[in-house]
Amino acid sequence: MPDTRHLLDIDQLQDSDLEQLLARTLALADGARPAVVPQTVVNLFFEPSTRTRVSFELAARRLGMTVINIELDRSSSSKGESLEDTAATLAAMGVGAIIVRHPETGRCHRLAAGLPPGLRLLNAGDGSGHHPSQALLDLACLKRAGIDVRGRAIAIIGDVRHSRVARSGLGLFSRCGAAELRIAGPDSLMPEVLPQGVTRAASLDEAVRDADVIMMLRVQHERMDQQAWPDPASYHARWGLQTNHLALARPGCRVLHPGPINRGMEISSGVADGPQSLILEQVRMGVYARTAIFEWLFGQDGNPAP
Ligand code: ASP
Repeated sequence: MPDTRHLLDIDQLQDSDLEQLLARTLALADGARPAVVPQTVVNLFFEPSTRTRVSFELAARRLGMTVINIELDRSSSSKGESLEDTAATLAAMGVGAIIVRHPETGRCHRLAAGLPPGLRLLNAGDGSGHHPSQALLDLACLKRAGIDVRGRAIAIIGDVRHSRVARSGLGLFSRCGAAELRIAGPDSLMPEVLPQGVTRAASLDEAVRDADVIMMLRVQHERMDQQAWPDPASYHARWGLQTNHLALARPGCRVLHPGPINRGMEISSGVADGPQSLILEQVRMGVYARTAIFEWLFGQDGNPAP
């Protein structure tokens, strides 16, 4: 464990950290009282976000933390200040943690290497890299819905290539013993190299057949050239999850989507609002997962960090 804890990706977490974060998320969802963490945290989001930013903020407030949201177009980064200098400035003012979302893959890992001691960093999504808090909340959400991923078949469909959610989720689900991990989508949205242990299905039907969990992904237009943008109607016809597909999956199959959802593109309203959807439950669990993450980050978890 480094001197100052950061949450950069799922791989850095030891099994004991994972178990503890999951158990604490579920306990908080069941009404356990959050710790008191007298710290200040700053949201530094270089990409748009609704769910992630607001749920980190709500989680921090539940812990009694002071939260500051920096509007990047009104901050010194718009005057050319590097993220490293912004971080050092905030640390000098006594800020305890920064939550960073950045369009550049790997930016949080690079930043972590040069942070002042004592300033914690939470990766809230870096380009197509990692989104560890999303993977943790997805796992907790499934568990709370009665699905232990061990031995289960999980299908992830859509823009896997650009998805940090897919990358973090596949890593975590495989580590937790998922029996089958399948991905599917148009060629241009599939990863160049198939992650170990992951198979690629040729069609949506094939991907969802006998699946216990289906995760749908948004097409990340912001990470591709406009010429490569798929046409929404033809995309929906081929890769959009509709209620008839659910009949191919295992009974009790649950549907995840990290949001924001594009109805009529990767998912129909019938599925998104239907009884098998966990989409709003994911949002709800996000607050508990992020509360547990803050407690862990600041050592309020029975395993004190400096
Ligand atoms: N909200 C997720 C993310 O930040 C997924 C998405 O944007 O499509 O990666």
